[in-house]
Amino acid sequence: MADTTPRLKRIKEQIRELASLAASDQAEAARRLAEELNAELDQALQESTTRPANAAPPRHSPPKAPRDDVARCPICSLRSFRFQKGTVRESPKEEGRYEGFYRCQSCAHEAWCDIG
Ligand SMILES: [Zn+2]
Repeated sequence: MADTTPRLKRIKEQIRELASLAASDQAEAARRLAEELNAELDQALQESTTRPANAAPPRHSPPKAPRDDVARCPICSLRSFRFQKGTVRESPKEEGRYEGFYRCQSCAHEAWCDIG
């Protein structure tokens, strides 16, 4: 909207000029028309200046992968509990948190783990 504001202001100036020029003949009609246009432009100007540039706050984007894609398996305790690519989902328990699906390459234990 940054581009329309100076343009609308310029139109307002022109209308003011028109109203002052229409001195004798049709003066009343010209002034009334100018006032109408001014009111309309005032509203447009207000709308264009009060409208927030980008109202929506940036949403916390989900992580693509955990910081550590290999963890210690809670079952066999070997460090072979591996994150499965492309399995990130929003946590069903806590809003705004994400979890990834892990599978142990040793004992085949599987589980969803919180990744932030
Ligand atoms: Zn395991």
